[in-house]
Amino acid sequence: MAVIPPPARDVKISSSMPIETTAAVLRAFGRPLAIEPVTLRDPGPGEVLVRMVAAGVCHSDVGQADGEWEFPLPAVLGHEGAALIEALGPGVAGLEAGQAVVLSLAPGCGACAHCVTGRPIRCQRALRAMTNGELVTGASPLRGAGGPIAAYSLLACFAGHAVVAAQSAVPLPPGVPAEIAALIGCAVLTGFGAAVETLHVAAGTRGAVIGLGGVGMSALQAALVCGAEVAGFDPQSERRSRAEALGAGTAIDPDSEGVEDLIKKAPEEGFDWSIVTVGNAPAMRMGIDLTRPGGKIAIVGLMPENVPVPVDFLDLVTYEKVILGSAYGSVSPEVLIPRIVSLYLSGALPLGELVSARFKLDQINEAFAASREARGIRAVLDISSAGPSNLAITSDLPAYHPGP
Ligand SMILES: [Zn+2]
Ligand SMILES: [Zn+2]
Repeated sequence: MAVIPPPARDVKISSSMPIETTAAVLRAFGRPLAIEPVTLRDPGPGEVLVRMVAAGVCHSDVGQADGEWEFPLPAVLGHEGAALIEALGPGVAGLEAGQAVVLSLAPGCGACAHCVTGRPIRCQRALRAMTNGELVTGASPLRGAGGPIAAYSLLACFAGHAVVAAQSAVPLPPGVPAEIAALIGCAVLTGFGAAVETLHVAAGTRGAVIGLGGVGMSALQAALVCGAEVAGFDPQSERRSRAEALGAGTAIDPDSEGVEDLIKKAPEEGFDWSIVTVGNAPAMRMGIDLTRPGGKIAIVGLMPENVPVPVDFLDLVTYEKVILGSAYGSVSPEVLIPRIVSLYLSGALPLGELVSARFKLDQINEAFAASREARGIRAVLDISSAGPSNLAITSDLPAYHPGP
């Protein structure tokens, strides 16, 4: 199995900066992404230049491209990536050229109360920079033919290269294929953290995972590692089969009559917890309604802006249900990523099962279509051949076989 190589001692660093690379640029919501040449400025203080190897297509990228949330345009999307460090900006310590990294969209500012208590996803300075399409360390590093280009989620990894905050580059030990490393950067971290950190899923409990895409399947895998019994819910039969193959006790079509039965029985026999990974109102309502009195519901899916979710507050109060938001695994990626990698390397988390399709960067609109239609679990972009001088790193994971 080809993997991201361990740190090399004598990597040559490109000296001709600003670096020219290729990126998938979003110029208008609802329009296809355009593959364009772009330039990146030198990494500034506290930043690094990375060469992208692989990037996952997360539903948030697709929702952003479809205009579900405001964002400055033009923009380069992509927030789930594996990369190699190419150059360090001034003052960066603890990283070196040639090092393989998982990119984190929660670098934090390193100084506020959220950051110093290990919750950088709550950092308001980083969130402001994210909203503005900048980095927490400075302006967006990207420029195109028409001027500046916004960087999505502090990363912009649908490109041959990226300049990111050094804290966004989390070192990766040898032995992890690039595709899997990329997925750890969002889907796995988010699903795993919802189960393990937000809900503290206990052995012997029964839980429901609503939505079996990359995040849901990761939550399911994590809950199984914790010793829980898990039911998966997804309208796609292929995803349900895959969930059952991974160890879900049952996998149910949310549109089937069986769900109404489960909701009716929830006061007596409901799930101890549920994780909702789908950003729509019926899915959130279902997660709440399927949970027993006193149960906990972790909401992970991102709703479009200004869309209300009807919740039965009489039910919520009298049944003492607990609804929790869970973002990006909740605790610091620097803490969670090594734990996830170690479980992957031990065989406990079969993360290769999440990769359902591979595309080149210039096929990104096909990958977006697969995500929009909820085909497969996670599409991954193999970026190693994009750009003028990329390393040829590809993964040779076994082919994905949809369930029967
Ligand atoms: Zn994501
Ligand atoms: Zn902060």
